[in-house]
Amino acid sequence: MKIATDQDRLTRELETLAEFTDAPAPAVTRVVYSETDLRARQYVKSLCVEAGLAVREDAVGNTFARWDGIEPDLPAIGTGSHIDAIPHAGRYDGTVGVLGGLEAIRALQRSGARPRRSIELLIFTSEEPTRFGIGCFGSRLLAGTLDESAGARLRDRDGRTLNEWRGTAGFDGNLAGARLPAGYYAAFVELHIEQGPLLERAGIPLGVVTAIAAPASWRIWLEGEGGHAGALLMPQRRDAFCAAAEVVLAVEQAARGTGAADTVGTVGVCDVFPGAVNSVPSRVRLELDVRDTDAGRRDAVLATIDRACEAVAVRRGVAVRKEIVNADPPAQCDARTVEALSRAAATHGLAFQKMVSRAYHDSLFMSRIAPTAMLFIPCRDGVSHRLDEYSSPEAIAQGALVLAEAVRELAG
Ligand SMILES: [Zn+2]
Repeated sequence: MKIATDQDRLTRELETLAEFTDAPAPAVTRVVYSETDLRARQYVKSLCVEAGLAVREDAVGNTFARWDGIEPDLPAIGTGSHIDAIPHAGRYDGTVGVLGGLEAIRALQRSGARPRRSIELLIFTSEEPTRFGIGCFGSRLLAGTLDESAGARLRDRDGRTLNEWRGTAGFDGNLAGARLPAGYYAAFVELHIEQGPLLERAGIPLGVVTAIAAPASWRIWLEGEGGHAGALLMPQRRDAFCAAAEVVLAVEQAARGTGAADTVGTVGVCDVFPGAVNSVPSRVRLELDVRDTDAGRRDAVLATIDRACEAVAVRRGVAVRKEIVNADPPAQCDARTVEALSRAAATHGLAFQKMVSRAYHDSLFMSRIAPTAMLFIPCRDGVSHRLDEYSSPEAIAQGALVLAEAVRELAG
């Protein structure tokens, strides 16, 4: 049976969802558990109920909207993404996978055939790290990589805990209970904008993701000795910023040194103390992000950086200390799910390219508990996390259509 997506309706719903924002339009600011986030959730849930889906929420507000299959006891097929948005973001990151996923389910409903497995739309809580400093805490909980202690440990800038926030938002219950049982999903597929320029440049409407890169991030402190910029002579200096500069260049060299296009290393934060023009820097804090699709290669880069830090410390007489903020393993996507997406694109005569996701997504964590893959659509100039983020209604509808086709096959 032929399936078709309702492009006008999907476009309208994305527009409506974008109206739930704490920034002036067209920018979207929707931080988890804000009033605006809660109202946006209500809107999406009302659409799910309208589509006849059974809605439930867990202890942090991860939202599940299920269309029961003929054999509802079988593991379900999941699809979904997030609706939270960083300050002054656009309207497509995450939302395309949520409303596109919903439209995929409605398209299957309209086709008249009921699937064997249930199909479930999943709206993850807080993909973005804006409030609690950690990305994907909703999916981390589902995958069991965060435990009960996160409720008191994760805090916003004002010291307010996750437990306080979720309580105010109306979500309670045991955090550990949010973990999904093994075999809950037979497959999980996330539709998302590419957030990079490759598809648009190649003129290809779809990307089938085969691997998701994961960041490892470190904080590095360098401690030397400060003093008067005029009085402290060069032979006596232990300048923490000069040492930090060597570390930064070592990061670049280590990331380039693998020769692999997928290895990237960035130092995006550098705080210099005391930060005065006439004072020798005594202390520097760096924040480092290294990503790769290959965990071994990424960890080898980190080891090279670690050795460089030690060498700089000895050579310049500074103390170097590091803290591992996170080191999530990258994920390979599930081959069967990748093939289902590829076949679905071919069925509808749409070209696709297999590609790597360089940003990480909730799917990175879902891949630990379910066979997972992602489907990308192009976004203009590769721009994301900006108010001028844009994907065309046609591109979004095509993504939802191929998602529907793949989910239909996976649901049997
Ligand atoms: Zn996203």
